[in-house]
Amino acid sequence: PDSAVPDWLQRLNPPQREAVLTTEGPVLMLAGAGTGKTAALTHRLAHLVRQRLAWPSEILCVTFTNRAAREMRHRVGQLIGDAVEGMPWLGTFHSICARMLRRHAELAGLQSNFTIIDTDDQLRVLKALVTELGLDEKRWPARQLAGLIDGWKNRGLNPADLTPVDNESYANGRGQQVYEAYQARLKALNACDFGDLMLHMLNVFRQHRDVLEQYQNRFKYIMVDEYQDTNAVQYLWLRLLAQNRKNICVVGDDDQSIYSWRGAEVANILRFEKDFPGAKVIRLEQNYRSTPQILAAASGLIASNSQRLGKTLWTELNAGEKVRVIGVWDAPEEARRVGEEIERLEREGAPLDEVAILVRAQYQTREFEDRFIQIGLNYRIVGGFRFYERAEIRDALAYLRVIAQPADDLAFERIYNQPKRGLGAKALETMYSHARRTGMPLAAAALDLADSDEFTARARSTVAALMQDFLRWRQMSETVSPAELLRTVLAESGYDAMLKADRSAESAGRADNLVELARAMEDYATLSDFLEHVSLIMDNDRADDGEKVTIMTMHAAKGLEFNYVFLPGWEEGVFPSQRALDEGGLASLEEERRLAYVGITRARRRCTVLHAANRRIYGQWTSSIPSRFIEELPPEAINQETTLTGGASLWRANWSEQEDPFAHVARDRPDRSSSRGPGWQRALSTGYETKPARVPETTRSAASFAAKARTDITLG
Ligand code: ATP
Ligand code: MG
Repeated sequence: PDSAVPDWLQRLNPPQREAVLTTEGPVLMLAGAGTGKTAALTHRLAHLVRQRLAWPSEILCVTFTNRAAREMRHRVGQLIGDAVEGMPWLGTFHSICARMLRRHAELAGLQSNFTIIDTDDQLRVLKALVTELGLDEKRWPARQLAGLIDGWKNRGLNPADLTPVDNESYANGRGQQVYEAYQARLKALNACDFGDLMLHMLNVFRQHRDVLEQYQNRFKYIMVDEYQDTNAVQYLWLRLLAQNRKNICVVGDDDQSIYSWRGAEVANILRFEKDFPGAKVIRLEQNYRSTPQILAAASGLIASNSQRLGKTLWTELNAGEKVRVIGVWDAPEEARRVGEEIERLEREGAPLDEVAILVRAQYQTREFEDRFIQIGLNYRIVGGFRFYERAEIRDALAYLRVIAQPADDLAFERIYNQPKRGLGAKALETMYSHARRTGMPLAAAALDLADSDEFTARARSTVAALMQDFLRWRQMSETVSPAELLRTVLAESGYDAMLKADRSAESAGRADNLVELARAMEDYATLSDFLEHVSLIMDNDRADDGEKVTIMTMHAAKGLEFNYVFLPGWEEGVFPSQRALDEGGLASLEEERRLAYVGITRARRRCTVLHAANRRIYGQWTSSIPSRFIEELPPEAINQETTLTGGASLWRANWSEQEDPFAHVARDRPDRSSSRGPGWQRALSTGYETKPARVPETTRSAASFAAKARTDITLG
């Protein structure tokens, strides 16, 4: 131990200590995953307070998520005790700006009690505005405008700052006009949207030197974690605040920049040394998180990216197992397999809190949730809702419930005006009072009112049409499969169209969730069987105690770590996502690869990648190609297994029409009986035997698939 270093810093390695002890001047800590960047930042914060270089309230420390801020507060608390209570400026960019804006609201044309509106309200305001300006909302959807405005705000642009190109991107050159009108409307409402929190503060700093100076003087030290994901407005804001004292320490990893779709600019890292000449650049290379094999897999993968600064990583850990790459037949088998592995870990004494399943897209959680509920495995969904609790899934289920059970008032109330049909709260009130008077269910009351004058003429015809639809769907439900019914309902009710018109990033995810819902329904013969299944699932373990497996997206997992990480769905079109492939650009593919790097490097001890040979899309089986990222993993760091013939690559090459598609079922069974436990018994009683009923279409097109697979691999 170095005697010049206080005890509590002994734990850190020399470059980390340097980052802690270099308190004055600009510092850029640039290092790969798991090298202790966040740990160093936490210690630096504690050091500043312990050495009385600043009061806790004089330090600005920005984290990427509220969760990360909580975690940092907790860690710093362990080092400096109660002093952490006096840290108002530790938080996310948005939470910090909201706090500032409350104090200076009048400078932004607001009152200090302004409301922060959510995306729903934002849309409502924009829609009204678009109509007022005489624009055709169908042609120029408010959603699209919302996306553009968010983008402009991320870039720090006020209406007057828009370029001609920006201007042209909406309603033939009226971008600036609508943006301006929107900002004026928000001011009139004493409200601001999420993006305004940053933009207003940037404007205040730019226009009111005295306010800026006040904060420049206050913040003796500035620190930023996950710097690679800052966007332009955040960058400009930081630069102003740090300009005077220049005591700014930022930490990041260019290989983990995964938010460019939200305007993040990795170039901010490269610009740092230019804006702050003489910045001390500290590189950390020792990884404390993962085994050598996990590290080798991640490093090998990211080496395929051309746009990177490049760095080496090493670890002192020498024991470890290779990254497992498991090929399975289909998504249900993937979920079964992961469930079995987790039960095995549990038997071996691993805490469930140390297990994570990291997915590319929200819809992927469904298969795991269904499976885990069946086998009684506790899980939590982080950064989102459980599958069956998502708004679009609830909407779809509400339609189905009204079809199956016309007296389901709650379901009817949920969707009578979703998508919008122009039936407001007034119409609902009329329906309810009629229902109460007559003792009828709500839907029947609606039908009754369709030819009474309690409704306006317009409401009458709308309700009549809706009830017609329900009658037709109810008849249909007797002849077509539940999944087919769902697809018809979504198309005919206008729900699909509503999602399509909505061009935000979330709406694509919502549409994917609905496709996944149809996929889940394929397994049920009747609508009521399926609804029964859902109500049982919804009823399941509401208790929030005990250990749980974490299911979340790779995006949300940034900065976190788990002993055991499962990465399912590594197939072309799932990961890398179809959207990234369609956009086609190298940049979007490289961002997907960085996401893969983030995913792998969350694992401490064991990392398991899975890919399925078949996915069902719109009721059709399609064969999938293993993700190119699997090919890019260094062979010496991985262990390929498959429940199909041979290794995954062997299987791809040797696939033939003679292959017995159920061979893997037989091969699976001995494995199952060798691990007899409660999990095994539950597995047997939960439909494993139903597999032959789902004969994959791929057996027919196997030869063409093999050819396709080969081409893709050579091209990939
Ligand atoms: P990411 O890029 O994923 O955000 P990071 O660089 O921020 O990673 P940390 O989360 O700070 O890395 O640290 C990774 C793990 O290594 C943590 O469990 C942390 O406690 C541990 N660690 C950090 N520094 C040291 C050290 N000097 N000695 C031992 N363990 C350390
Ligand atoms: Mg970190």
